[in-house]
This record gives sequence, structure tokens and C-alpha cells, in this order.
Amino acid sequence: MTTLPLEAPTRHVLAIDIGGTKLAAGIVSATGELLDTARTPTHAEQGPDRVVERVIDLCRTLLRRSPVTVDRAGVGCGGPLDTRRGLIQNPPNLPGWIDYPLVGQLRGALDLPVVLDNDANAAALAEFHFGAGRGTRHMLYLTISTGIGGGLILNGQLYRGKRGNAGELGHIQVQAGGLPCNCGGQGCLEAYASGTNIARRAREAAAQHPQSLLARSAPRPEAITAQTVLTALDAGDPVARALWNDTLDLLAAGVASSIHAFDPERVVIGGGITNFGDHLFVPLRERVAARTMPALSDGVEIRPAAFAQNVGVLGAAAVALSAALEVSS
Ligand SMILES: [Zn+2]
Repeated sequence: MTTLPLEAPTRHVLAIDIGGTKLAAGIVSATGELLDTARTPTHAEQGPDRVVERVIDLCRTLLRRSPVTVDRAGVGCGGPLDTRRGLIQNPPNLPGWIDYPLVGQLRGALDLPVVLDNDANAAALAEFHFGAGRGTRHMLYLTISTGIGGGLILNGQLYRGKRGNAGELGHIQVQAGGLPCNCGGQGCLEAYASGTNIARRAREAAAQHPQSLLARSAPRPEAITAQTVLTALDAGDPVARALWNDTLDLLAAGVASSIHAFDPERVVIGGGITNFGDHLFVPLRERVAARTMPALSDGVEIRPAAFAQNVGVLGAAAVALSAALEVSS
């Protein structure tokens, strides 16, 4: 990032979102307006070179028809990755991307400065600059979907830590010696409260209570998802209610621990879990307040993210725009 030239903040940027199932790109203004966007399936099984060819095609299509010029590109991609060297380091959703020099490839093909960050940090920056974190200087972001990711905005900037991996709020431990987690640890928030693990716990609860509405809301046990829990919760099912209450307690523990660590003004929660709406936000605010020291909980807001569908592209744009600000400040 320090290699970028000193200059005024960019007016428009090219934004690139690389996901395990889809690739998306967009032209985005400095205020977060999405002028144009295009997407295509990733076909991750074809390996990095073929996928990156399609990313470049997508970007060239957008640049050809763009009425504005862009002077840098931002990329959001699943980690682990090395932002400084521009490498993708074998993320679980992109098999074969082992120390893959994504930034170098894109910079060469597009003839633009390219900056990279992980998708959770990118989404945190999008909410901070354009969405639910606007007006703050200290904001925590949690995205709860298949897994749980996080991003820390401290003193008005994304905090990356020593290697770029700070903000892994999904791996805060909420149960000592608890369930095993994908990260190799035990008792992490993600092991209980990610969409995948809510569904897994729901299947276990349904097996124990085969007559419950939760069990009967799906045609077969494997079809139970977090959405099934929400449907059963809406219908007043006590088994879904007990499962959701446990989930809320674990989420409150994770959020309260994060507040104690970082003293934010606002916690923004995004991802598929926001579909739970008032089932999530109303009790979570109460439970977090009850678990947080008054000096730290006073005035902290817990808000839903502003962006869902385009958060990947807007996040990549925010990565490019905030890199320009970091260099010029
Ligand atoms: Zn973990």
C-alpha cells in the first residue's frame, strides 16, 4: 500500500469481489455510489489462472463501457491472504490459490494500482465509509453467514494487526473447552453461532424433538437450515426458541467481549443472520448491555449492516478508496 503515489482521494474506483461461487466487479464513486456492476460464476474448480482470466474479462468489459475514468482498483477476497505482498494464501473456498500473486496479475493486466484486503475487512470499510458505521470513529463489524468474520475500525482506520489478520471476532472463545472450530480451536463463537453451526445445532435439536415444529418444518433433517429456525421461531416453537436463546447468549458473550476489548461507538452486524431482524437485534442489545461494564456499554449502538447484496463490491471499492486516504493522510 505504501507504493501508491501520493495524490488526492480517487473519484471513482474499480471494485472487484472474488468469492468462492461468484465473481463481481463494479465502478464505484468516492461516496459509494455503484455506477455499474457485472458478475459471473467463479468456477473455482478450474484453478486460479482461469478464474483470474475471467476477473480480468469482467473488469475490461466494465472499463470499456464506463463513462468515468478510474485510477485504482480494490479487491476483496476470502482470506488468508497477504495484503502487503498481494498474495492469496489458500483460502478454503478457492482451492489451489497457494501464495497466488493476485495483485501482480491484476495490476499487469489492468494497468492500474491494485489494493487487496480480506472480504470481512472490506465489508467493514464499506459500512464505515458508506453505510451503518458512518459518522463514527470506532466501529466493530461482524458478519455472520456461513462463518463469522469481523473487522475493526479504530480511530477512523481499519486496524489490521501485525500480519493483517486482526479482527477475527468469530474466533473469540465463548465456551472454555467447548465445541471444536474450523480454526483448530475450541469453543469459538463461530463453532456455535455461524449460519452453518446454527443449522447443525438445529438438526441435533430436531433429532431430540422429532415432534417439534422445528423438526416438521423441513422435509428431512438434512434440509434444516438457519432459515428453518427462523420459520419455527416465528411460529412460536419452543424448541426453536430454546436454541435461539442459547445462540443469543453466545452472540452476546462475543459482542460484549469485543466491546470490552475495543470500546467502540457502534457494533454493526451483517450477513445472513440479519434476516432474523427483531428476533436478533432487540434481545441482543439487552443481553450485551447486561454483560458489559456500564462505562463501556453506555451509548454503544448495535445496528444492522446497511448493505447485503452488493457488500462485496462496495467493500472492494472502500478498500481502494481508504488506501488512497491512508497514503495521502
Ligand atoms: Zn475458531
